Amino acid sequence: MSVGDSHVVVVGASLAGTRAVEALRHQGFDGRITLIGDEAHQPYDRPPLSKTLLSGKRTADQVRLHPDGDDYASVLDVTMMLGRRACSLDVDAAEITLDRDERVGFDALVIATGSRARHLNHTDHLPNVYVVRTLDDCLRLQAALVAGARVVVVGAGFIGAEVAATAHSLGCHVTVLEAAPVPLERQLGATMGTYCATVHARHGVPLRVGVQVDEIDANGVILAGRERIQADVVVVGVGAVPNTEWLQDSDVAVGDGVLCDAFCRVRGSGAGTLKGIVAAGDVARWTNTLFGEEMRIEHWTNAAEMAEHAATTLLADLNGDSSSLMPFAPVPYFWSDQYDIKIQFLGRSTGHQEVVVVDGSMESGKLVALYRRDNQLIGALGISRVRQLMSYRNLLATGASWEEALTHAAQ
Ligand SMILES: Cc1cc2nc3c(=O)[nH]c(=O)nc-3n(C[C@H](O)[C@H](O)[C@H](O)COP(=O)(O)OP(=O)(O)OC[C@H]3O[C@@H](n4cnc5c(N)ncnc54)[C@H](O)[C@@H]3O)c2cc1C
Repeated sequence: MSVGDSHVVVVGASLAGTRAVEALRHQGFDGRITLIGDEAHQPYDRPPLSKTLLSGKRTADQVRLHPDGDDYASVLDVTMMLGRRACSLDVDAAEITLDRDERVGFDALVIATGSRARHLNHTDHLPNVYVVRTLDDCLRLQAALVAGARVVVVGAGFIGAEVAATAHSLGCHVTVLEAAPVPLERQLGATMGTYCATVHARHGVPLRVGVQVDEIDANGVILAGRERIQADVVVVGVGAVPNTEWLQDSDVAVGDGVLCDAFCRVRGSGAGTLKGIVAAGDVARWTNTLFGEEMRIEHWTNAAEMAEHAATTLLADLNGDSSSLMPFAPVPYFWSDQYDIKIQFLGRSTGHQEVVVVDGSMESGKLVALYRRDNQLIGALGISRVRQLMSYRNLLATGASWEEALTHAAQ
C-alpha cells in the first residue's frame, strides 16, 4: 500500500488535532484524514475563554481556530466527525470504537485528546459552581459574571488568576483562594510565584493562600475551620487531567498522559513504540532531550509545535524513512494575561537553584528574571517585557551557560 492510500485518524479536534491535520497536508500527505472530536462546536481556541471571550471583548465566532468554518474541511480535504467521542482503541485491529458503537479503522493514528478541568468532589450538581475548559463552560460563566456578583475563585494558578482578573474587570467582587502557601510555585518557583500573585492585591482583589476549601454549597464556600465566604459564583481552577480513559483497555502506555518517545511516537505497554501511532498536545508525555526531563505540558505553543512534529514523525514512519528525524526538543513557552500584565515563561524552573532579575525590577512591575540550575540557564520569566524576554529563547535552545546568559543580559 502506498502512503497516499493510507487513512490517518486524528482523535481530538482542538489545537493539537487541527494542527496535526494541517501539518500532514502541508507536508504533502494526500491520503484520507478523519478528524474526530467530542465537542459539537467547530474547533476553537482556548486561551480567550478566560480572557477576551469571557470579558465579552470577543465573540465565539471570533475565537474559532479556522474562521472559514466548514471550508476548513474541504480545503484540507478532511472528514470531520464532530460531537463524536472515541470510546476505545484496539491497536491490533487498528480500529477505534466511537459512541453509538461505530467503528473507524485507520492506518495511522494521532492522539490529541488534550486535558479537561479537574472538578472538586460533590460539586457538579451545584448551579453556582463553574470550571473553565470549554466554550460552553465559558459562555455559562460569562452569563453569571454580572457587575456586583460575589465571585470566589478556588485556585490561584494561571487560569484562576485570569478568571479573577476578568471578573474584576466586569465589576464583580472577587476573592481568590489558594491551598498552597505559594501560588504558581511549581511553574515559577517560590520567589517569582509569590511576586506574580501580588498582582491581585494591587488591583484590590483579596488572595488568601494556604486555605483549604472544605465544602461548596449554594451560598458559597466553607473553609476548613468552618469559616464561610458568601458567593454567588464559585469558579474552580484547580488544574487539569489528561483525557486518556478511552485508551485504558488498549495497548497504549498511559501514566499521567500518553507516554511517548522523544519523537512523539506512542509507547506500548510492552517494550517499544506502537507502529503508526503518535500523540501531541496536553495529553502527551515525553522526554524533552534539551532539558533531559520527562514532561507533559498544558500550554498552547507546545500543543501547536508538538502536533507538527508528531505529523512529521508519522509521515516519515509511513514512508519507511525515519533516518533524518529529530527528537521533539523545544524550549517550552507559555504566556498568561492578567489584569494589566503579561506573564511569559521560556524553558523550565524545575530544580532551579537561583533566580536573578536581570532587566527591570519588581518595584516597576516590568522585569526579566533568569533561572539557574548548576551552571546552566534553564528558564526565563518576563513580566510585561515581551521583546526582552524573547531574546533568551536562542540561549535556552542552545543550552547556554549561566555566564553566557548574564553576559547577554548585560549587553
Ligand atoms: C481557559 C484556558 C485558558 C488558557 N490560556 C492559555 C494561555 O494564556 N497561554 C497558554 O500557553 N496556554 C493557555 N491554555 C492552554 C491551551 O489552550 C492548551 O494547552 C491547548 O488547548 C491544548 O490543546 P490540545 O489540542 O492538546 O488539547 P485540548 O485543547 O484539551 O483539546 C482536546 C480535544 O479533544 C477532545 N476529546 C477528549 N477526549 C476525546 C475523545 N475520547 N473523543 C473525541 N474527542 C475527545 C476534547 O473535548 C477537546 O476538544 C489555556 C487553556 C484554557 C482551558
